[in-house]
Amino acid sequence: MTIDFLIIGQGLAGTLLAHFLEQAGQKVHVVDHYDKRAATRVAAGIINPITGRRYVKSWRVDDLIPFARKTYLELENELGIFIFHRRNILRALFNSREENDWLARAGEEGYADYMLDKPGLEAYAEMTVPAYSYGEVQHSAQVDVGVLADAYRSRLRERHAITEELFDYARLEVFSDSVRYGDIRAGAAVFCEGYRARHNPFFNYLPFGGAKGEVLLVRIPDVRFGKILKHRIFIVPLENGRYWVGSTYGWDYEDDSPTEQGRAYLEARLRDVLKAPFEVVDHRAAIRPTVKDRRPFLGRHPEFPSLALFNGLGTKGASLGPFWAKQMADFLTKNVTLEEDVDIGRFEKT
Ligand SMILES: Cc1cc2nc3c(=O)[nH]c(=O)nc-3n(C[C@H](O)[C@H](O)[C@H](O)COP(=O)(O)OP(=O)(O)OC[C@H]3O[C@@H](n4cnc5c(N)ncnc54)[C@H](O)[C@@H]3O)c2cc1C
Repeated sequence: MTIDFLIIGQGLAGTLLAHFLEQAGQKVHVVDHYDKRAATRVAAGIINPITGRRYVKSWRVDDLIPFARKTYLELENELGIFIFHRRNILRALFNSREENDWLARAGEEGYADYMLDKPGLEAYAEMTVPAYSYGEVQHSAQVDVGVLADAYRSRLRERHAITEELFDYARLEVFSDSVRYGDIRAGAAVFCEGYRARHNPFFNYLPFGGAKGEVLLVRIPDVRFGKILKHRIFIVPLENGRYWVGSTYGWDYEDDSPTEQGRAYLEARLRDVLKAPFEVVDHRAAIRPTVKDRRPFLGRHPEFPSLALFNGLGTKGASLGPFWAKQMADFLTKNVTLEEDVDIGRFEKT
């Protein structure tokens, strides 16, 4: 089989890249072993424009969010799924200093559109322990990134465009203008393995990190929250009366399995805030593909131009993914220059 691009890894990065390459008329084939502990299958997919203790706009958010929205709506149409949920975020403020900082930021140029004057607590007013005060963020959303990856996978299967196995790096033959993997001949191989890229023998010179996160899926009977609440942890409404509660954040871990400590921590935080009883229906863990300078990794290998990489979506894949996947596709198909911030050329291969 002769194709244009062989994509290794079909989490959010591989899915979005395949989408934009196919949209550009390229023939792709994916190799992915189904991993229920891939970050994409554990993430809430929150798009949050205002983050951190200083309530600043996330990097490039004015470009990223409109493009992300457009892309997810396009994919909803193409795949017949419903994954993009506009949801405001209520952010608990715990003292007068936090409230003052929030209000000061909301008054700055470029912020008014994201930060609402008067937060609307809705059901949270009755059902949660009140914080000192709240801020409300708009243009935020929750994207079912796992549902997207599964739906895209089904479509790849129908077209016989996916091989569901662990990619064996030793079997990849690399030529200057193409690669061969078994009976597949491709113009280039693009690696999108999430945090597992640290085991990639071609790209392991890049400063990959990896932050483990644990989450709970819970039912909260008799409660209907519509917004996302950030009260130390996030409580995120999902479909079917379930809520995503998370997450932990750890650099020091033995493996990617859920732990008793993680579960106990999340249950305790949920009990701190929720007045209603809840039932845990699932407990999951995954490793986020974080990278040293918190900017995505895009580019070709400095010695083997037929090898490329799209990774480093870190903690913000839902907002970063669409914009940078499109840039990666344009780079691969039209040779459009990558922005310096994201180009892996910023790291020297020693
Ligand atoms: C707990 C948690 C909460 C999160 N919450 C959010 C959030 O609210 N908002 C947000 O924007 N982001 C969030 N994220 C981050 C988000 O999940 C990631 O940015 C994004 O999903 C990364 O996608 P990826 O495709 O790069 O990696 P992954 O999802 O890890 O996908 C990599 C894929 O490659 C495959 N693979 C790897 N190696 C091989 C191999 N050798 N052979 C075959 N297949 C291979 C894996 O099976 C997998 O399918 C969260 C992450 C975690 C863990």
